[in-house]
Amino acid sequence: MANRGVCYCKDCQAFAHFLERPGDAVLNELGGTEIVATLPKHVQFTQGLEALVCMSLSDQGLLRWYASCCNTPIGNTPRDYKIPYVGLIHSCLAKHSPSLEDSFGPVRMVLQTKSAKGHVKSTPMSNFVTLLKIMKSVIATRISGNYKRNPFFVEDSGAPIKQPRVLTKAERTRVTSAALTRRSTRTSCVRLRPRNGPPVKLFR
Ligand SMILES: [Zn+2]
Repeated sequence: MANRGVCYCKDCQAFAHFLERPGDAVLNELGGTEIVATLPKHVQFTQGLEALVCMSLSDQGLLRWYASCCNTPIGNTPRDYKIPYVGLIHSCLAKHSPSLEDSFGPVRMVLQTKSAKGHVKSTPMSNFVTLLKIMKSVIATRISGNYKRNPFFVEDSGAPIKQPRVLTKAERTRVTSAALTRRSTRTSCVRLRPRNGPPVKLFR
């Protein structure tokens, strides 16, 4: 089970800004993060596990895993390992030969489009079908006991393998407002002038 999706939510955007990776687009031009949604049991770390760390935007938020050496985002997991799910972030996946499309098929979920920095077509039907498929796999894995095979959590205790770093309120405000600021600087240069009217800025 692996399904491609793009999430435009503000928290995913804030995480990308937290990572501060200039010149490397975690986000697409409209603020979306491409993910491959899958079961953690399909993920295996073969190298560099010592660099893996996780953060959370709040003490209830998703665990957001990344490589501390180069700030490459790895994926997002729920806090409870009994919900076996991981959204792998495209930045950590090899994209050439085969492409993500060849490996995982087309994008089937487009989430939180209202937080996008421009118009993104929503795909409610495809989202629904795909989320249902994911839920089915998650529940089956939970019932079978295979949820314990999860490289992000200790098998017996269910504790995350790294202590999550929960952002302080000030840190959270900083990364969240960074996402908003980028929005205005990025889009304020786009202008159009309707016939016989004043100039109009788009996306403001
Ligand atoms: Zn998101």
